[in-house]
Amino acid sequence: MKLGVCYYPEHWPEETWKPDAKRMKDIGIHWVRVAEFAWSRLEPQDGKLNFDWLDRSVDTLGEAGLSVVMCTPTATPPKWLIDKYDDVLQVDVQGRPRKFGSRRHYCYNSASYREETRRITSVMAERYGKHEAVAAWQTDNEYGCHDTVRCYCPNCEREFRVWLEQKYGAIAALNEAWWNVFWSMEYNDFSQIDLPNLTTTEANPSHSLDFYRFASDSVISYNQLQCKLIREKSSYPVSHNVMLYFGDFDHFKFAKDLDIITWDNYPLGMLEQSPLPAEVKAHFLRTGHPDLISLIHDLYYGLKDQPFWVMEQQPGQVNWAPSNPIPAKGAVRLWSHQAFGHGADVVSYFRWRAANGAQELMHAGLNKHDGTPDRATTEARQVANELRMLGKKQTEVALLFDYENLWATELQKHAQGWSYWGLMFSYYHALRSLGLDVAIVHPRSDLSPYKLAVAPALHLVDEALAKHLESYVNQGGQLVIGPRSGFKTLSNVVQELAPGPLQNLMGLTVSHVDALRPGISDTILKGDETLSYSTWADLLRPTTAEVLASYTNPAYEGAAAVCQQAHGKGRCLTIGMWTEPEVLKVFLKPVLQSLTIAIQDLPEGVRLASREGRSYIYNFNPHEVKLELQDIKTTLNAFDLKFKDQ
Ligand SMILES: [Zn+2]
Repeated sequence: MKLGVCYYPEHWPEETWKPDAKRMKDIGIHWVRVAEFAWSRLEPQDGKLNFDWLDRSVDTLGEAGLSVVMCTPTATPPKWLIDKYDDVLQVDVQGRPRKFGSRRHYCYNSASYREETRRITSVMAERYGKHEAVAAWQTDNEYGCHDTVRCYCPNCEREFRVWLEQKYGAIAALNEAWWNVFWSMEYNDFSQIDLPNLTTTEANPSHSLDFYRFASDSVISYNQLQCKLIREKSSYPVSHNVMLYFGDFDHFKFAKDLDIITWDNYPLGMLEQSPLPAEVKAHFLRTGHPDLISLIHDLYYGLKDQPFWVMEQQPGQVNWAPSNPIPAKGAVRLWSHQAFGHGADVVSYFRWRAANGAQELMHAGLNKHDGTPDRATTEARQVANELRMLGKKQTEVALLFDYENLWATELQKHAQGWSYWGLMFSYYHALRSLGLDVAIVHPRSDLSPYKLAVAPALHLVDEALAKHLESYVNQGGQLVIGPRSGFKTLSNVVQELAPGPLQNLMGLTVSHVDALRPGISDTILKGDETLSYSTWADLLRPTTAEVLASYTNPAYEGAAAVCQQAHGKGRCLTIGMWTEPEVLKVFLKPVLQSLTIAIQDLPEGVRLASREGRSYIYNFNPHEVKLELQDIKTTLNAFDLKFKDQ
């Protein structure tokens, strides 16, 4: 386990580099990320390379005993490059070209930009691929930030048509898959197909879903280009820093090309932007919500089923949320250990010293604008002294997450309050508040390591997925399926009778769905217990399943809300409505008990995590907590944590 920091030597006088490096080492930092936005200094004019300063900076860091993460600078193509070509700038969904003057302004499908990328990446791979101070790579920076996965330029239109032709072969097949007979949307040729923006009303959701897939594939193929060039010259691991609650490209597919997944963790910025209730946001004002953060840790661990890095860890205020409170004293230490507890191998703080100008000048660093230590430095030093080597995450429970289900349900929300992330969060929050470690994995991955698999909104389903899940349950797995499951085919058109190929597994059909306005709720009856739901209700009609709870609304004509179906050695539980974590727990607890998975009801803001070698208890509350659980009796100060080494 190591600490790191993001460093921009090009921002500071050269005489500060050596003392900076010495102080990094002194704090206990091991990794230093450099060069990610430095193109205009590495190549001030077309073809006039100037790497001397970066060489000296890397040497300085190496001489201090630090290891460098070298970044390709492609997130910020310089002005001369933009002016040289007319096909590099992105076009937004409104058809407007994005201008030079910030970052991420390039199109992934620009042939000119791919050529420039090839050139600069090759130069860097050649120069630093075997450098002894360098020990890892980062491609680009935060693919997709500022809504830049989906580009609507002529390059993308051309490439989308090629992608569609490769997928469907014949235009008739596309017309059928998309149900283009509706509204006379049929095409005679792939060359007629536009990008799905600027249509009079919404575009055909099948057209949009394929465009989302294409845009995701464009990011992946652009990244593959960089990975390939780096690996031709270097054996150091290749990473990329992805973002939190960002689903515009398929991270499971993307992760296959990388050696290490890294991500950028901004707990307070995320809390401020989140739709959590105002009182929850007030309570966690200075730490962020523990589950909001760790859901992303667990998701990114699951991308490769291996430890990840936090490449950018918030060390103080951020600059980009609607409001930007100062973190609690102790929050940086709490966040760092939370990351390690959930499977991080490295936590790297963003950034070393606060920027004195430009867009991020209000963003804190480990050091203030004048270069003197800010409060997070003390906490980072403490964390460095508390580190030890840890093994894998250990869990018996998996949550199934899929980017295509995110896209499909968000394209046709049908209920204003629908949110795929929100539904995932409800299930995750319920499981975490029971003291469980949770793996987040793809529905088509090997589920055999888990006693329980929970699949909220398994929306797009084909026979292969249904068979995969049936096999898991037959062999003794317990599957929980949430609302909107089995509703569509992979083409994003309906199954004629939901839940399509999942009917046998779930032992039921869905006769109707009800989509409710925010603020409206209704009830279900479980025995003589009345429970509430909102937003969404699948009206379940059991064929062979046992009914565990039914809707009370007479308009639903006796429909079941929660059903259970046995298969082989396992069972499938269907929870047909959108509901709060407290109600989910009513149904999840007996399942967990039947699987002999130990649960502990944790107070709000208190969470457990464990890896081989160490277990953690975190208190994200702004007050002391006395814990009296079955195995744990302890007192935690506000914003504090305890760990126990095995
Ligand atoms: Zn484009």
